[in-house]
Amino acid sequence: MGAGILLGCIADDFTGASDLANNLVRAGMRVVQTIGVPEGPLSVEVDAVVVALKSRTIAPEQAVAQSLEALAWLQAQGARQIYFKYCSTFDSTPQGNIGPVTEALMDALGCDFTIATPAFPDNGRTVFKGYLFAGDVLLSESGMQNHPLTPMTDPNLVRVLQAQTRRKVGLIDYRAVSQGADAVRARIAELREQGVGMAIVDAVSNEDLLRMGPALKELPLLTAGSGVAIGLPANFGVAPSPQASRLPPAGGLQAVVSGSCSLATNRQVLDFIKSGRPALAIDPLRISAGVDVAAEALAWAEPLLESGPVLVYATADPAAVKAVQGQLGVEEAGAMVERCIAAIARGLVQRGVRQLVVAGGETSGACVQALSIAQLQIGPQIDPGVPWCHAQSVASGGEGLHLTLKSGNFGSDDFFTKSFKMLQA
Ligand code: ADP
Repeated sequence: MGAGILLGCIADDFTGASDLANNLVRAGMRVVQTIGVPEGPLSVEVDAVVVALKSRTIAPEQAVAQSLEALAWLQAQGARQIYFKYCSTFDSTPQGNIGPVTEALMDALGCDFTIATPAFPDNGRTVFKGYLFAGDVLLSESGMQNHPLTPMTDPNLVRVLQAQTRRKVGLIDYRAVSQGADAVRARIAELREQGVGMAIVDAVSNEDLLRMGPALKELPLLTAGSGVAIGLPANFGVAPSPQASRLPPAGGLQAVVSGSCSLATNRQVLDFIKSGRPALAIDPLRISAGVDVAAEALAWAEPLLESGPVLVYATADPAAVKAVQGQLGVEEAGAMVERCIAAIARGLVQRGVRQLVVAGGETSGACVQALSIAQLQIGPQIDPGVPWCHAQSVASGGEGLHLTLKSGNFGSDDFFTKSFKMLQA
């Protein structure tokens, strides 16, 4: 029996959970991501678990309840430190959910102080004097001010978080962070004296995140984007190692399904077609006309799979998507295409596909559900933020399945072909 996990993480959405898991693996931890709170203990021995919730925009009471349930499970696995992961643009409203969830976790853990920082400079998220920048502009000028669910109109995170919590919010600013861990520890002691319960932390380079790492060792709870994770494994004596991302050997047939209409995905679809591999486009209007498009796609794919990867895609350019949405409605079109692609993914796995690339964040959620996947072991990174994973699926009849879930604008143009080459290497 292992001694239990080192780091227990609670993520407020699915792709954010993968992003965090990927950072931890790169820093040397063996990581499993679970879809929701697992019902029993883990089947593999790992250093960290990321429980993926969908709690970013639900009612605060529900987000709190789910997060506490995740906490209880992580504690039962022996987690020595808890990490609450949210979006690198601090997506939230004055009602929450970052403040209420943090507060509830602090109460449950009996801790009087924690940090909060979405900084991840290598990905263009920096915090200076408590102000969050996305790329070269303030959060409130980044487009996030118009987000449909969590409009971010104030770039000052001390103010933003203070509006969501009864605890006093403070700042560990760049002066302390640039001087290193001892200065951060001293600043934490000072803030505690002042009755501050949560502090936003500045970071303008990834070195800042690594520098502050040792100062975070004693805190029972950390709250952050995925960036802070790069400095944590060292606190547990864990160093980067290829062992961390090792997955069981890959076998079986190969396929790509894509429901993402992002620019990068459009380029990836074109690149795959140009490479000469077979590709089939899904027409949403035929799905809505009642044609069994999934069955058609599976019949098309079946004889081709033996000779290499195939692609089934709904990916289309913005004008085509608009036209479909105009006829079917935005949500209806989206949900219908997601269901169809998920059914195709399941059918492909039932037909022997054991290496599956899925493109699209929402599409990935639908596919993971259709494949009844509860846990993903995180493997090597294909492109920044996108790792290969290994999972057990009911559809693969007890055999393991290699899976990568690529959201929106991630990945190079040749992503759909190079992913498979990487698994064979
Ligand atoms: P991304 O990660 O690129 O945002 P998602 O899968 O999250 O991708 O979202 C894409 C959405 O667009 C999904 O709901 C998908 O079903 C929908 N969609 C895909 N293709 C089409 C299409 N041709 N017309 C309309 N909607 C589509």
